[in-house]
Amino acid sequence: MAGPNSRPRAASVVASPVANLRIGAHCSTAGGVQRAIERAAAMGCRSVQIFGTNGRQWKARHHRSEEIAAWEAARATHDVGPVFSHGIYLINLGSTDSRIYAASIRSLIDGLRIAADLKLAGLIFHLGSYGDGAPPAVIARVAQGLRHALDQSPNSVPLLLENSAGSARMLGARFADLAEVLAATGNDERLRVCVDTAHAFAAGSDLRTADGLEALLATVRATVGLERVAALHVNDSAAPCGSQRDRHANLGEGEIGLDGLRLALNHPAFAGLPAMLEVPGFAGDGPDMANMEIARAMLGVGRLTLLGALRRARRQAAGSASQGAASSRGPVDGPSGPAGRRAGHASKPVGAFN
Ligand SMILES: [Zn+2]
Ligand SMILES: [Zn+2]
Repeated sequence: MAGPNSRPRAASVVASPVANLRIGAHCSTAGGVQRAIERAAAMGCRSVQIFGTNGRQWKARHHRSEEIAAWEAARATHDVGPVFSHGIYLINLGSTDSRIYAASIRSLIDGLRIAADLKLAGLIFHLGSYGDGAPPAVIARVAQGLRHALDQSPNSVPLLLENSAGSARMLGARFADLAEVLAATGNDERLRVCVDTAHAFAAGSDLRTADGLEALLATVRATVGLERVAALHVNDSAAPCGSQRDRHANLGEGEIGLDGLRLALNHPAFAGLPAMLEVPGFAGDGPDMANMEIARAMLGVGRLTLLGALRRARRQAAGSASQGAASSRGPVDGPSGPAGRRAGHASKPVGAFN
């Protein structure tokens, strides 16, 4: 499935798989979209994810020219790319409700427009759910919606389909689902895949072991193909393997653990990929320096040893615990804001992602 966007994987494996992984994080755009770049730079990110528009609202925003200018100035100042956006959480291309289906397609078109305005590397999104539909009909509906969104988008921004944890009959818990959607969309070159470690684990891939990781990679190779994988979401999982529950945890604080995450991050199959954290953060404010340092230490590219990074994370966790309930701050545009809590995410910690 080699195409113009394929990376020279074999060459990068030989050179240095480790140094090539681009560790980064989801960063808040609160205070202006360019603030995400400044936050990313402060954490030493080599890749970034943002919400291009409010993740809990259908109505998409338009960035004014002065906002785009500030964004471009920040990007010129800080070398933190590639930058991706994450689609809104309301998208459900599997829906049989015609309003939701049409709004989902509209949202993808808007998301691609915003990504083009901000010159992003791609839009990452969740396909939606099966609902009560039979899988073949749902796959066809999803593919038709994707086709429509691509055809109506006069830009070449890639769309990345993310694997899901499998809860509520979510599409994409099986990579075979994603492969079927890709095939039904004519394997459009703009369609790519984002692999989320916490979702794969919750969907049944036991990433605690090398065998579990190899089994996941074998599945990816046999379905969507490794060359379609254009980004990683690096998250530990607060929910057990196979639980089908989507609960992100800080690196090393979840069920995958440091050893499992280290295996995944250092696997040559993922060499060169942007790898973005969507963790709750030790202070509950989303991805933070402590998680970034743990990730970098696992790759052997950071300033700190893994032990040093863990000590710092524990200090930060202790500090935030002593603040008690003070950490109600979340990214304004994030899923943890008031809208997110209304949408039934009350049990998630501040800064939670799905
Ligand atoms: Zn994710
Ligand atoms: Zn998730």
